[in-house]
Amino acid sequence: MTLSPLERPTNPATAAFARPYVISWNLTYRCNLACEHCYLDAGGKPLVQTANFADRSELTTDQCKKVIDDICEFAPEALVILTGGEPLLRRDILDIVRYAAKRELWVVVGSNGVRITENLARILKGEGVRGLALSLDALDPSVHDGFRRVRGAWQNTVDGAKHLAAAGLPFIIQTTAGAHNRGELEEIAEFAYTELEARVWNLYFLVPTGRGQFVSDLAPSDYDEVLASLEKIQREYRGRMVVNAKCAPHYVRQLLAGDPESPFLKAFDGGAGGCPAGTHYMGIRPNGDVTPCPYLPVFGGNLKSSTLSAVWKDSDLFQDIRRRKELGGRCGSCELQSVCGGCRARAYGMTGDLMAEDPLCTHEPGAFSPRQLEALGDRTGLASLSRYGEDSSTSIAWAPEARARMKRVPAFVRGMVVRSVESHCRKNGIATVTVEELDAIRARMPTPKVFGRPS
Ligand code: SF4
Ligand code: SF4
Repeated sequence: MTLSPLERPTNPATAAFARPYVISWNLTYRCNLACEHCYLDAGGKPLVQTANFADRSELTTDQCKKVIDDICEFAPEALVILTGGEPLLRRDILDIVRYAAKRELWVVVGSNGVRITENLARILKGEGVRGLALSLDALDPSVHDGFRRVRGAWQNTVDGAKHLAAAGLPFIIQTTAGAHNRGELEEIAEFAYTELEARVWNLYFLVPTGRGQFVSDLAPSDYDEVLASLEKIQREYRGRMVVNAKCAPHYVRQLLAGDPESPFLKAFDGGAGGCPAGTHYMGIRPNGDVTPCPYLPVFGGNLKSSTLSAVWKDSDLFQDIRRRKELGGRCGSCELQSVCGGCRARAYGMTGDLMAEDPLCTHEPGAFSPRQLEALGDRTGLASLSRYGEDSSTSIAWAPEARARMKRVPAFVRGMVVRSVESHCRKNGIATVTVEELDAIRARMPTPKVFGRPS
């Protein structure tokens, strides 16, 4: 039996998640590539025949604008990622971007980069796009093209990245880890940084959904090796390029074991660290279906008949995914549950159970002692190890100039930055945040500035 929101007992762990910080919006199933691991089964002839992939219709331009109005109403500070398929194949993409930017949403575009010309890079910037995310899977063009299934894709993406750099549009390079590239991850990171001038390099871990369910070339222990080399790369580029693991919340375990002083551990704090699905993050499918994560083909409602707010607050799906204490298997009894939670999409893709343990993780709960965790909590600010779901206190005062400075921080990370600045001040006995204090904190941060305001 499913309880209605009113009948359902209040879940203290869900109370803090008032709205999403990041919304990933798949605008279309159309694509000019046919990548073998595509989670949306986009481009070419559909391979996935299940009901949750059956409706491949797209919202019209007017419906998209209504969704934008809805986002502005409910989560105006959210980072909105317009992606696909290939979103640049939508004829109305500039119309959608322009409308969203005019309404002051922070818009980035997730593209395969193939269609980006010098002119388009300039236009995207002019219309208000804040940045792009491009995919690159190997240094050998033929390997990348084989993975993406289109000859010439590598060269087009690399050219696209160069056009973006020339236009001054920041971009992220994303790489999917697999047997085809596990031996050259360091070189790919180097290429992204030196040749392409990327500000961020994200390494994605396979989620077996969409066409990704037909691909499986690395064992969990191989992925552990990939995580270990990622930690090394992350350390190497500290302060120069942001390096992150995506779809691998259990990376926190690697950091705790391999580099317990890592400042990147702080990224796992925030009340529900690790997997952000349904707590900080949500996805919208081309037809308006709403999911806690784009890799998760289960839906809390559709925006043609519901609102973002209703789905986020009231749907059973979004309520349930926040109940980490009810996770199954090892994730259910794991000491890292509040800072990891396992990838819910992978659990669903491999077992059909959204709340099952993440099968890619090799952690045996209990490996970290309570004392180790406590000490780490003190050193890293991972307070949520002990207080998942609670809100942070805001007892620190802000000087007017410091408060004004915070307005320049992208809205979707502002809350996190404020929390971390205040926690730093509290720890150091500072009663008021000043501009000087903000400068000092910024200088110690391990990551460079990623997205600034467009000039
Ligand atoms: S067992 Fe689950 S919660 Fe624990 S580290 Fe692994 S994926 Fe994360
Ligand atoms: S379910 Fe969580 S960890 Fe997995 S891809 Fe989605 S947001 Fe990332």
